[in-house]
Amino acid sequence: MKILLVEDEQGLILTLTDRLRSEGFEVTSATDGESGLSLASTGGFDLIILDVMLPKKNGFDVCRDLRRKGIETPVLMLTAKGETIDKVLGLKLGADDYLTKPFEVIELLARVEALLRRAPQTRSNGSSPESFRFGNVTVDFRRAEARKNDEPVELSAMEFKLLHFLIENRGAVHSRDRLLDAVWGYDAMPSTRTVDVHVAWLRQKLETNPKHPQFIQTVHGLGYKFAA
Ligand code: CA
Repeated sequence: MKILLVEDEQGLILTLTDRLRSEGFEVTSATDGESGLSLASTGGFDLIILDVMLPKKNGFDVCRDLRRKGIETPVLMLTAKGETIDKVLGLKLGADDYLTKPFEVIELLARVEALLRRAPQTRSNGSSPESFRFGNVTVDFRRAEARKNDEPVELSAMEFKLLHFLIENRGAVHSRDRLLDAVWGYDAMPSTRTVDVHVAWLRQKLETNPKHPQFIQTVHGLGYKFAA
């Protein structure tokens, strides 16, 4: 497994490189956004660890440019403390997870492994289409945007991730636990209520009649499915 580490703090590069290598990963590092982007653009990595504050080009721009080029390598973003809005922005721009500095290396390893576990499942569904239409809704996966009756719909990063997962795996029934695991990741919210709430919001925003959803359906006793 090859990891690209884009980070400008020398101390952190040394610590992480050492630790990741001892876990059996091959590590390449870049210390600014431009060289990070050009290395990442080769597509030869299984995972990218991307700092937000970088010289030359920040992590958000690197992530956005990568996704625009169609590079779907999982990205774990490193944000500084208190950058909550930035986390959401990062997810919208195509990052797969984020970690707030300072962090324990063991936590970073857990995230890395969770992302690498998740990645092949995404790939096995074939290359995902760039957009998807249902009813009067169009979803643009690359831009992380949805439109209803050609009007933009405001979706949070997690609502978008949930919608994306349901559409990618449409027709199949997913339990709340499965959705928590697949969409929220290993550090999932404590309650499956979180899933219900996000499903309700998606229906409210996207369904013609949210009380009788045509697409995001409840399968009683089992969970949810997106009607194929
Ligand atoms: Ca930095």
